[in-house]
Amino acid sequence: MQSQEEVKATFKLILIGDGESGKTTFVKRHLTGEFNVQHNATLGVEVNHLLFHTNRGVFRFDVWDIAGHEMFDGLRDGYFIRSQCAIIMFDTAKANTYNNVNRWHRDLVGVCGDIPIVICGNKVDIMPKKSWKTCINFDRKSILYHIEMSARTNYNIEKPFVYLLKKLVGDPSLKLVQSPAIQPPKVVFTDEMSCQVERFLDEATSYTLPPTYD
Ligand code: GDP
Ligand code: MG
Repeated sequence: MQSQEEVKATFKLILIGDGESGKTTFVKRHLTGEFNVQHNATLGVEVNHLLFHTNRGVFRFDVWDIAGHEMFDGLRDGYFIRSQCAIIMFDTAKANTYNNVNRWHRDLVGVCGDIPIVICGNKVDIMPKKSWKTCINFDRKSILYHIEMSARTNYNIEKPFVYLLKKLVGDPSLKLVQSPAIQPPKVVFTDEMSCQVERFLDEATSYTLPPTYD
């Protein structure tokens, strides 16, 4: 693990979304986070420090993961404050978690204003088509960037962080120069599964997605 001196900047990242969408699993896939976990029992959060080695230096995210208090309540403003970026996660297999994305987004922006945000559709290893279409409808109406991923298979697991770093550092050509330390996948995301995702996304190209740097 890199020493603290070599970290060029640290960003507070708030990880939100409905319970059971996979937030804690996602952050725990990153092994570096295991070293410096902090708990704040009052706010009900766990903060994991994740390092990313890029062509612009080493950056750290302090990822604030809500510890079982995903309900819409007054506590949340306390951990939204001073967030510099955010991931809103939903479960692609559960429409109700998608339906709440707008609400999470509205509440987040209400406290944090215009910060870089990624919407992450997790559990694409389950991938029910109907839910995927619902998710894509959301993006068609939205200017928000979204990434489909699986915390179970590690599919696209580093992409939300790379996207946020590009925005925060202001360099669209920023890229990882070292793979993040990630636990091995629980199941392997096969080529066939990848192709299914690609095919489905191809079917949905009749609209313009927001610009990406990929
Ligand atoms: P949180 O409440 O948002 O923090 O969700 P958790 O991380 O506790 O995950 C809820 C459940 O979803 C757990 O049983 C995880 O094992 C499961 N899970 C998380 N990510 C994935 C994924 O990508 N695919 C599948 N199939 N299950 C997942
Ligand atoms: Mg959790």
